[in-house]
Amino acid sequence: IKRPTTAAAWVEADRLHLLHPQHHPSEQQNPIIWSRGEGATLYDTEGRAYLDGLSGMWNVHLGHGRWELVEAASRQLSTLAFATAYAGATHEPAIRLAERLKKIAPAGIESFFFTTSGSEATDTSIRTARWFWRAQGKPAKTKIIAREWSYHGSTIGAASATGVDEFSEGFGPRLPGFLHIPSPYPYRFDGDGEAAADLLEAAILREGPETVAAFIAEPVQGGGGGVIVPPDGYFERIREICDSHDVLFIADEVITGFGRTGKWFALEHWGIAPDIVQFAKGITSGYVPLGGIGISARIKDVLDGAESDRRWWHGFTASAHPVACAVALETLRIIDEERLVERAAGQGGALLGRLREALGWHPHVGEVRGLGLLAGVELVADRRTRARFAPEFRIASKLRAELLARGLYTRIVNDTICLAPPLTTTDTDLSRIADIVIDAVETVC
Ligand code: PLP
Repeated sequence: IKRPTTAAAWVEADRLHLLHPQHHPSEQQNPIIWSRGEGATLYDTEGRAYLDGLSGMWNVHLGHGRWELVEAASRQLSTLAFATAYAGATHEPAIRLAERLKKIAPAGIESFFFTTSGSEATDTSIRTARWFWRAQGKPAKTKIIAREWSYHGSTIGAASATGVDEFSEGFGPRLPGFLHIPSPYPYRFDGDGEAAADLLEAAILREGPETVAAFIAEPVQGGGGGVIVPPDGYFERIREICDSHDVLFIADEVITGFGRTGKWFALEHWGIAPDIVQFAKGITSGYVPLGGIGISARIKDVLDGAESDRRWWHGFTASAHPVACAVALETLRIIDEERLVERAAGQGGALLGRLREALGWHPHVGEVRGLGLLAGVELVADRRTRARFAPEFRIASKLRAELLARGLYTRIVNDTICLAPPLTTTDTDLSRIADIVIDAVETVC
């Protein structure tokens, strides 16, 4: 096979042979072809530079081109590239990573299981919650309650939990036993945090607590909702409700974990302990894939107490992949050493302040919101009524074009410009990101 030599030939080969995530040929007409990255900047094959406003896919926490991560991977590849953690075996990178995570995980989380993706982490959480109740003689507790505007992944379990219909509709019905309650979307929900949480209690009572295994929620909704930060009091009340009806609380920290919101995990903002926490993305800064879940001592005790033939029959070939564990350990070491969690809190506050000052008054900016270095600018047709733009206005594609033309790559979700740049972004680059967003919004509407 001849290697394409021109940009047009690469595009043609892409169009013919590559299926993309959320594939649609309209996005293959004129794709950006990435070639390299450095810090918070990505370069395409034409040599154009783009600030990486979303850290790749909300995951490149340390920015591009970190030699320490390359060396960690290379050391592990040449020492022990792969070994299984199945069947009476284990290895040092996995043990060290689990120990390290115990020190930073939300309160009450004791032990960890590793996957390769966030979707697998979601499926693992769901299966674990159901297994936990069955192992205790409550096999009817299988239902999973999730929220509208959530995104939990693309495997069939994770997509069933996801609260945006498009992700399921074309693929037949969601799996049975998944239901969704409204999101505590302060901009569009009439009521405070407690009122939004009480919708969970109403759903549990309607279904019957004896049928509900778990409630799953992202602390800040990202990929489905466009950076929705819950109101105060929400998660505190969620915890009470889960406790009083014996429902496990699964926190999906795939986007919010590892410093993104200015805490190691976002639930720390509200002092809440989950029963299961799931993670992926930033744990390896995206350099190699790794995800997983952490479970509470209560769940671990049940796992440890199971008869051998009734064990937790769950696992993947690549679970606790040694190279991914080694890169994760190095990522966490750097986040710690460079005090990136605190930095995200400070830089995030400055970014939000700047965007609010410049756009807070704008007739088509409904809300500027965020937590740590995770921000969203929601655009609306009418600020007074909060009405959305009509689809024909194609607000997202117009904005995307203006952002790209000014050298900023990011995603627009639910008419919201999402920003989650690397936690290592310089103040100059961050200020440039804000300038571009402000300028693009003022140009489009
Ligand atoms: N959960 C959340 C909150 C996510 O944002 C994502 C991906 O964006 C996932 C789960 C799925 O992760 P992955 O794409 O690694 O399967």
